Amino acid sequence: MEKNYRAELVGVFGSPVEENPTGVMEEAAFEKMGLNYRYLTIRVEKGDLKTAMEAVRAFRMKGVNLTIPHKVEVLKYLDELSPAAEIIGAVNMVVNRDGKLWGENTDGKGFLLSLEQEGVSVKGKQVVILGAGGAARAIGVEAALAGAAKLIIVNRGRERGEELTRLIQERTPAQAEYLPWEGAIRIPSGTDILIQATCIGLYPHVEEKPEIAYDTVTAHMVVSDVVFNDPNTLFLQEAEKRGAKTINGLGMLVNQGARNFTLWTGAEAPVDVMTETLRREFGLDQS
Ligand code: NDP
Repeated sequence: MEKNYRAELVGVFGSPVEENPTGVMEEAAFEKMGLNYRYLTIRVEKGDLKTAMEAVRAFRMKGVNLTIPHKVEVLKYLDELSPAAEIIGAVNMVVNRDGKLWGENTDGKGFLLSLEQEGVSVKGKQVVILGAGGAARAIGVEAALAGAAKLIIVNRGRERGEELTRLIQERTPAQAEYLPWEGAIRIPSGTDILIQATCIGLYPHVEEKPEIAYDTVTAHMVVSDVVFNDPNTLFLQEAEKRGAKTINGLGMLVNQGARNFTLWTGAEAPVDVMTETLRREFGLDQS
């Protein structure tokens, strides 16, 4: 057999990226599947993104992930977008298809899959999202496209909250409403799914939880948190006390990584290995 010492390259561009755990998960998956791929965690500053995207083509990289601060800026350097990424207006992964760069956003799809894996569908549901940043945008748009009846966006900053609400109203079939986040807001009655999509509770700020009226969280709600590096957030603990079904952010992280893996390699992702690797990385038990 002919020798091939050349590895296929993928990776992540961002700043900071030092604590981004995706590479560990993807590398474990490549090894498990016997694929000669490398995932590089690369620090790219804001002004260097154009050059970095040119390098994707020059190095014939299979693709890259984008993280802070590049998810919106990168759109300028892409040839094509998935329909959902076009609506969301942000991309967290790129596939290099013979020199043509195609952008996708796998955050929202990964999140919806983590609900499905727990037997939860957004179809016809009233969904409340805390936050209107990148994660909330991806989840809000994908939930609306997947058939949620109504999205209620709760955000501290009015401008971002209203912008996401308008986006859902104008570009998806779902209804949307903005609820200003003033004091301990009450979760509107009729809510089926409540999603915490802000940075509150992100490690090391594990003692923080969003300010809401927790007595308005009820046992018939599904409550989810996107924070993954402490999967047992105070927010989820409070919801659990009220009898709600809770879903943490690890599934979202693994599922978006699994989608990226498949889009880059064409192979099915070894989800179990990816989950175990992350749990080990975050110092969680294997239960
Ligand atoms: P952004 O910076 O884009 O958005 C941050 C959001 O959090 C904004 O809505 C902001 O509100 C809100 N926020 C921040 N601090 C506070 C506060 N003290 N009180 C109220 N609201 C606050 O971040 P992302 O959307 O990219 O990330 C949000 C979270 O999602 C992070 O925890 C991140 O780790 C997680 N995430 C998880 C993923 C997973 O796979 N599980 C994937 C991607 C992200 P405002 O507009 O008012 O500033």
